[in-house]
Amino acid sequence: MPIVNRVAAMHEEITAWRRDLHAHPELGFDVHRTAGIVVDKLKAFGCDDIVSGVGKTGVVGVIKGRKTASGKVVGLRADMDALPIQEMTGVPYASETPGKMHACGHDGHTAMLLGAAKYLCETRNFDGTVVVVFQPNEEGLTGSLAMLEDGLIERFGIQQVYGMHTSPTHELGKFALCAGPMLAACDKFTILITGKGSHAGRPHEGVDPVVVAAQTIMALQTIASRNVNPLDAVVVSTCIVRAGEAFNIIPQGTTLIGTVRTLSEKVRAQTHVRMREIAEGTASLFGGNAKVIIEGDVPVTVNDAEKTKFAQAVAGEIAGAGNVVEMRPIMGAEDFSHMLKKRPGAFIMLGNGIGPGLHNPGYNFNDAAIPLGVSYWVRLAETAMPA
Ligand SMILES: [Zn+2]
Ligand SMILES: [Zn+2]
Repeated sequence: MPIVNRVAAMHEEITAWRRDLHAHPELGFDVHRTAGIVVDKLKAFGCDDIVSGVGKTGVVGVIKGRKTASGKVVGLRADMDALPIQEMTGVPYASETPGKMHACGHDGHTAMLLGAAKYLCETRNFDGTVVVVFQPNEEGLTGSLAMLEDGLIERFGIQQVYGMHTSPTHELGKFALCAGPMLAACDKFTILITGKGSHAGRPHEGVDPVVVAAQTIMALQTIASRNVNPLDAVVVSTCIVRAGEAFNIIPQGTTLIGTVRTLSEKVRAQTHVRMREIAEGTASLFGGNAKVIIEGDVPVTVNDAEKTKFAQAVAGEIAGAGNVVEMRPIMGAEDFSHMLKKRPGAFIMLGNGIGPGLHNPGYNFNDAAIPLGVSYWVRLAETAMPA
């Protein structure tokens, strides 16, 4: 049984929703139009309960099965926000808002979960409750936490939770996931280096914070090569370097900003310790000083082993078992990780066909993937809670 028949019949309708969302991208928590459309549609489908304003602009829909005797509650989550990118796809339904676009496929995620909600409201062929979760601000990596802090899990009694993301590195017709750590923890770091400004022709009278910064950037790379076990993953990327105003002045200070990605809390903590030691030690070696600030709280996305097997089986039923790829973890991050810390579940990648990458101005969600994604959602609910 590949695509669910009723879902195949809804392909055109869901595509139209997706393209409308694509033309009207919204950022962060400011997803009022999108959330409004979600609420209107869930109402029209006959959802048993609809709550908006969960985590600022998040929307939750409750769909009860034909029976609820099992007491089971399954959460299915999509994200709604776009990115501050100028679209370059050239499609007729391209973004109507300059500087904003759906370059991460969240338009597709929202449309597919709406499609699943419509089907589940029509058929109710399960014993339990489905909670559809539409999250704001995934890109800012705080939307999931905002919904959880508003009591998402407890208010709706969610016992297991699933997420899905489009993947332009997997062929259309494939699903991909793995048990255990699948996406990285993400931290932002800022290193403030203070030296002593001086005349560029008289460097001996100052402490050059640019030289300290250069040494620090290089030394940070030894965390991966010399400190962390080579079989464990860690990325330290210095992405912003700020210093100086003139060619003939050694500045007073420099600022380094970047990100740390890890696949375990142990390596994450170890990396933070080494970053402080390296930055402070390097600065003091040259007579300056450094302050390290580490921000952000996006944990590792960890798929539950048993729920991963279950998700693999459901995806295999839709796409054929040979089309469910056991993927290696990737160092991108996803704030769905917070939901997986609260309840067991699994995050899955939906093959979108090989093409421009996520966050690229040429990326566009592939509507041909809609029947696969929607079928996965509905069969996941029906199989987890058989009527
Ligand atoms: Zn993204
Ligand atoms: Zn995304």
